[in-house]
Amino acid sequence: MAERKVMERNDELIQKQYVYIDKVKEITAETVNIEGRQPTYEVRVFGCQMNELESEQLSGMLDAMGYTKAAPGEPADVIVFDTCCVRENAEEKIYGHLGLLKPAPGDKKSIVAITGCMMQQPHVVEKIKKSYHHVGIVFGTHNLYTFPELLYKHLTQKKRIFDVWDSEGQIVEGTPITRAEKVKAWVHIMQGCNNFCSYCIVPYVRGRERSRKKEDIISEVKRLAGTGYKEITLLGQNVNSYGNDLGRKDAFADLLYALNEIDGIKRIRFTTSHPKDLSDSLITAMKELPKLCEHLHLPFQSGSTRILKEMNRKYTKEQYLELIDRVREAVPGISFTTDIIVGFPGETEADFSDTLDVVRKVRFDQAFTFLYSKRTGTKAAEFENQVPEDVKKERFQRLIEVQNSIGAEINKTYEGKTVEVLVEGKSRNNDAMYTGRTRNYKLVNFTSSEDVTGKLVQVKIVKAWPFWLEGMVVPEGETS
Ligand code: SF4
Repeated sequence: MAERKVMERNDELIQKQYVYIDKVKEITAETVNIEGRQPTYEVRVFGCQMNELESEQLSGMLDAMGYTKAAPGEPADVIVFDTCCVRENAEEKIYGHLGLLKPAPGDKKSIVAITGCMMQQPHVVEKIKKSYHHVGIVFGTHNLYTFPELLYKHLTQKKRIFDVWDSEGQIVEGTPITRAEKVKAWVHIMQGCNNFCSYCIVPYVRGRERSRKKEDIISEVKRLAGTGYKEITLLGQNVNSYGNDLGRKDAFADLLYALNEIDGIKRIRFTTSHPKDLSDSLITAMKELPKLCEHLHLPFQSGSTRILKEMNRKYTKEQYLELIDRVREAVPGISFTTDIIVGFPGETEADFSDTLDVVRKVRFDQAFTFLYSKRTGTKAAEFENQVPEDVKKERFQRLIEVQNSIGAEINKTYEGKTVEVLVEGKSRNNDAMYTGRTRNYKLVNFTSSEDVTGKLVQVKIVKAWPFWLEGMVVPEGETS
């Protein structure tokens, strides 16, 4: 009964937006009639994969409202920013972009709209209100799906619209989406986070954990498979706790078994995992499910148990290493990537040595390394023992050197081997090459005499570069 109510509420919420989509469409149709051109849009995305997925939803809504994507460099009628506030420099970058959009007198005015995590912070919204008068629409992460309504109000009422919700509602299904890729797709399975790591702003700007219903996820993946997608990446701030809010145990592993059955999908990935929640059932799924790729992104953040406690991560250095061993034993040849923060408040040289120790012991294929960035509103921002910038930077440099040399050594072992690559298309940097990834997430650029986009091909690796592999396709039927 409760579930039916949620469904009805969902239908009501999304139907209302489709009414606004049609209303905006009438306005864009007028532009086509009067000016003989279709109005254009640009979506600028900052931050994580969740934002990339949401930028696809923003594009989907704009396409449905009669806008078309602006050509690169062309000034768009509507410019939407999907922002990130996880690090200070991301915020600064966004203010920089906004500043450049201030129109000079007589310039054509674009409608500038901003959403994303940064807008969930009241001080940011105040700053935009006061200092960026050319920003017409501000909305948050919890009401992204109401963009058609907000755009319609802005277009018809000719005034600035500020609409940021401070609490999360239910996840709304059915928002239009225009996917950026044709071979692989993001699929969000949950929103929000309950963990409150002491450095992280996410639980404050994305709210508590809310899982999508398993049937909704399965339907979406079946639709993707039906339109030719081969790979899906399941997204959530902490996918390992998928279903906890629905009162279901082992729900994530259960979901993976169901998705593994969908014809057409060849590969399944997921991100991000929290080490404290990585369950035995998930490790078993990784061992048993043929479509689940042999790659795990498992942020460890710091190698020091003392710092991990200050970070509120709820595992120790030893537990993290033990977890890595268990996963490696279950899935031989699996590759690991991670996130590491350098210079968390109170980090000593001994703590940092523990971080280097974990990096050397695990031998990550890749690490996303960050200087600790103080975020207003988080617990760690109030810690008094902040590490001086020069110390942070020096440690950061040492960490990069250690990790880069491990990554390069691992890549070197691929030379001469043949690997399976899911081809995403032509390489962005070199038109003579195709690009794709191995099951364990190695980026491969390779030559092929025919267009192999969307196919799983065998590629012989001829050269290892520090961050990618170079190869040539092995013609079907030939063994290397
Ligand atoms: S698990 Fe921790 S780091 Fe990840 S989103 Fe939640 S609070 Fe932030």
